[in-house]
Parts: sequence; C-alpha cells; structure tokens
Amino acid sequence: MSEETIFTRIVDGEIPSYTVYEDETTYAFLDANPLAPGHTLVIPKRPYERLADLPADVAADLGATVSQLATAVEDAVDAPASLVALHDGEEAGQEVPHVHWHIVPRFPGDGAAAVHAMFDGVDLDEDEMLNVAEDIRDAQS
Ligand code: AMP
Repeated sequence: MSEETIFTRIVDGEIPSYTVYEDETTYAFLDANPLAPGHTLVIPKRPYERLADLPADVAADLGATVSQLATAVEDAVDAPASLVALHDGEEAGQEVPHVHWHIVPRFPGDGAAAVHAMFDGVDLDEDEMLNVAEDIRDAQS
C-alpha cells in the first residue's frame, strides 16, 4: 500500500474537495470532472490500491457507504437511477491508485449507454464456460 495518494491528500484536507460523507474508515466527495450532476467518489480513507487489497472489515464498510450514498445521490439530484462502478486496475481504466467507487446518476435520455456497450462480447462454448467457472472456484481456495 502506498503511503499517500491524491485521495489521501483530500482526506487529510490538503487538497480541497466537495465532501459529501465521512466516517471512521470511508470518505466520499464529488468527482472534480463530473459525468453527471452529483457524480460522487467513495473511498476507503487508507490508500488501498486494488479491491483485493481491502481487509474484509474495510470492504464491508465501503460497501455499506456506497449503498447508502447511491440512494442519497439519486435523491439529491432527482435521478431515477445510477451507475455504480469501479475501475479495478490500470488496464480497467483506474487512473488513481486508491480504490474508489464511482456513483454516477443516470437520467432518462442522458445519452450514456449501459456497461455492456463497452465490450464487443466473446463467444464461449459450454466447455469454456465450465472451465472458466472451475478456474474461478479454484482460484479462491
Ligand atoms: P479512475 O479513472 O476510476 O481512476 O477515476 C479517477 C477519478 O478521480 C476521475 O473521475 C477524476 O475526475 C477524479 N479526480 C481526480 N482528482 C480529483 C480531485 N482532486 N478531486 C476530485 N476528483 C478527482
């Protein structure tokens, strides 16, 4: 875990932010480049880089904060829905090496697509599906 990121500097008050929530382990603030009004980032206060780096208790706290804030953000900007997303790793689009969930309010006719539109999709046959499922089960043991 790195010692400092741009987000730890926000938590420490060295960089200003539009804070929307704070507790002992988690913090949330408006994204500086909002994709929609109310676009919020939710982070653990400590600079864990990847989801897999989070201790279970921090992961649970973060999940609870995201869940609570998704509703609050929608209510605040009168959005009927939101995209809740996390770039887990550089190849996935993670630019800041500090775990952060995006909550992006969605509105009818906002022109944005579902996450499926990001991919062409792949055709996997029955054997390939069985194998990858087995590999994922094995990877957890
Ligand atoms: P990601 O591509 O998932 O790593 O997203 C990083 C996000 O952090 C981007 O949406 C940026 O706009 C946002 N961001 C970077 N610096 C700041 C900052 N100082 N305050 C608020 N949001 C920031």
